[in-house]
Amino acid sequence: MDAMTFVLFGATGDLAKRKIIPALYSLYVDQKLPPSFSFIGVSITELSDEEFHEHIEQSVHTFSEGGSNDFSKVKEFLPSIRYCKLDVTNEGEYKKLLKLIQLREEELNIPENRMFYMSVAPTFFDVIALNIKKSGLGSTKGWKRLIIEKPFGHDLKSAQELNEKLSTTFQEEEIYRIDHYLGKPMVQNLEALEFANPIFQTLWNNQHIANIQITASETVGVEKRASYYDKAGAIRDMFQNHMMQLLMMSSMHLPKRITAADIRNEKKKIIESVRPLKKEDVHSDVIRGQYGPGEIDGKSVIGYIEEPGIAPSSKNDTFVAVRLWIDDPFWKGVPFYIRTGKRMKNKSTRIVIEFKNHLKELYVNQNEEPTPNLLIIGINPNEGVSLQLNSKNPLKDGKIEPINIEFSADQDDVPKAYELLLIDAFEGDATFFAHWTEVELSWKWVQPILEAFDENLVPLHIYPTGSYGPDASHRLLEEDGFGWWLDK
Ligand code: NAD
Repeated sequence: MDAMTFVLFGATGDLAKRKIIPALYSLYVDQKLPPSFSFIGVSITELSDEEFHEHIEQSVHTFSEGGSNDFSKVKEFLPSIRYCKLDVTNEGEYKKLLKLIQLREEELNIPENRMFYMSVAPTFFDVIALNIKKSGLGSTKGWKRLIIEKPFGHDLKSAQELNEKLSTTFQEEEIYRIDHYLGKPMVQNLEALEFANPIFQTLWNNQHIANIQITASETVGVEKRASYYDKAGAIRDMFQNHMMQLLMMSSMHLPKRITAADIRNEKKKIIESVRPLKKEDVHSDVIRGQYGPGEIDGKSVIGYIEEPGIAPSSKNDTFVAVRLWIDDPFWKGVPFYIRTGKRMKNKSTRIVIEFKNHLKELYVNQNEEPTPNLLIIGINPNEGVSLQLNSKNPLKDGKIEPINIEFSADQDDVPKAYELLLIDAFEGDATFFAHWTEVELSWKWVQPILEAFDENLVPLHIYPTGSYGPDASHRLLEEDGFGWWLDK
């Protein structure tokens, strides 16, 4: 791993405090940071280095999880960290940052490898990129890289405009777009599960798979993000990015080699083959929902339109369920059902692969129809793999019953998404970052849904808080003879 400078724009913000700083500290404790690492925090707040160090200590103490609960090294971590107060919209102020970067490069005797992390509001993405170019920060003798986090645009057009602006300063291979779902260990494991296991590899197609169900349900509501979320909805906040990535990761075909370029190429082929929806037909394959009042853990909870900052007339989607088809020879005829929602019964992100049973009829006479084989990949909060098989129960006269073979990862030892992604970015490995093509093609696919929602062409179903979403979402599967496999 190369020695480098890590510039964190928005270093005093929420994302930095909760995720990025604890992840960097954890990597430091595990000795996974580059050998010489100059970390410079940037934000609009006036702070001394010492005050920023206090901020780092607080963030580590409050938000570190798992293995990084070792706080003994915080003081050791601080000396490599500097702070620079800067208004990102003011081009003139970038000289100060450049000077500090160069001073630290000299002091630490490190090459001009510079990584810029934009942990700021998306409205600043383009202006920071432009100012990095104009101020000379980006003219390095080493490499430069940019890490940005969603949202990448609000729709297809704005995403294209943003990308055009970023690409005047950074080449595509220098841009690392974080989709933190791609940092989750079980999502990174999907490729190994499918390709390193011949028993699954041979079954991963329409000959053997009946349907694939991808769910990300949350119990939380809109929290403090009303102004953002009411304009975004579940379709932009979750579906266009995270759910589309889970779709690509679970359905891509065997690449020639396991490299970033080959995997991205396979993902691209998938998203190019997803059958487009017409705006007029969206209502047949997409269910739009919004949480109403209800109960969670025995406590009554208000509905979406009663939330502070949300207009009583809001028709925003807090739930979407989508049925889609991949028109390629491997997946022809296999429905993919994808849903995500807030204020649902439980917090659960998982992929369920339901297999066909060609010999089901053999057992019909015995009045004991076997249940389908299921491969369940738990992504969050329970990371693991479970395989549901059928087996005779000797205690019940040999009655056939489902049994589960389960593997679950030791949660404490599993590195967190941001740690895995930061290491990859430091090493220049873009496998688990979203390529522009993937982002653009998923916006393209989602665009008719955005328009159909805007024009009210799709009914809005109110579902009770604490439920599995609108009843209408079951219709999508029942039409094909299936049902959701619920995480109970
Ligand atoms: P935030 O408002 O908490 O923090 C913003 C940071 O930007 C602060 O450090 C602030 O000082 C700095 N800033 C604001 N104006 C500035 C200016 N003119 N010049 C220099 N610095 C300025 O925001 P956040 O929640 O940390 O979100 C940051 C980004 O990450 C956003 O794009 C958000 O969409 C994305 N994101 C956040 C989360 C999260 O959990 N908070 C999750 C996913 C994505």
